[in-house]
Amino acid sequence: MTNPLNTDVLIIGAGAAGLTAALTAHQCGAKVTVIEKGARLGGTAAISGGIVWVPNNPQMKAKGIADNRDDALAYFRSLDHGEMSADTLEAFVDEGSNALEFLNEQGALELHILEGYPDYYLDRPGAIADGGRALDNALFDYSTLGEWADKIYNGGDIVRMMLLETP
Ligand SMILES: Cc1cc2nc3c(=O)[nH]c(=O)nc-3n(C[C@H](O)[C@H](O)[C@H](O)COP(=O)(O)OP(=O)(O)OC[C@H]3O[C@@H](n4cnc5c(N)ncnc54)[C@H](O)[C@@H]3O)c2cc1C
Repeated sequence: MTNPLNTDVLIIGAGAAGLTAALTAHQCGAKVTVIEKGARLGGTAAISGGIVWVPNNPQMKAKGIADNRDDALAYFRSLDHGEMSADTLEAFVDEGSNALEFLNEQGALELHILEGYPDYYLDRPGAIADGGRALDNALFDYSTLGEWADKIYNGGDIVRMMLLETP
């Protein structure tokens, strides 16, 4: 077992944020340790709808769907009551697309555009009505996870949400 003190990066929590950070640090050459308090991995993402919302994302560029930094920032700014830090917001808008490309290169995700899925607040500046920013992962065979399949959080006894309306 890895000594948690002998590590370059210590990740606390194996949800989507922690595991994405862990993968990124590992691929950058760091020795990474992940600590999870639960019995299983995945956190809330493991039982979520799984829709990823990123403006000006690679799938939009590939399909020629127009989007840009100014519209994305204007959309956020119309909703955040001035409370979101400019650094955080601009990092999300400027690097979100690169982050998705990185995860795609690692084989971690296989995202596609949810056709016609609109932004939630269409009356706001920079909103897109016809879809593009909302992405969903391709369905995959859970058994391909092998021994990891039993280590992923499944919500316990709750009935899992089925997004049958999404293609
Ligand atoms: C039903 C549902 C549907 C959703 N649908 C969407 C959607 O479509 N799109 C979207 O963007 N978002 C959606 N969300 C929200 C999204 O899933 C969460 O915002 C996201 O998964 C949070 O990820 P996280 O890694 O930041 O935190 P978490 O998932 O909360 O992960 C934190 C992890 O850290 C662990 N942990 C906590 N404290 C400690 C500790 N002290 N030591 C060690 N480990 C610790 C926890 O056990 C957990 O595994 C949905 C949520 C729900 C419930």
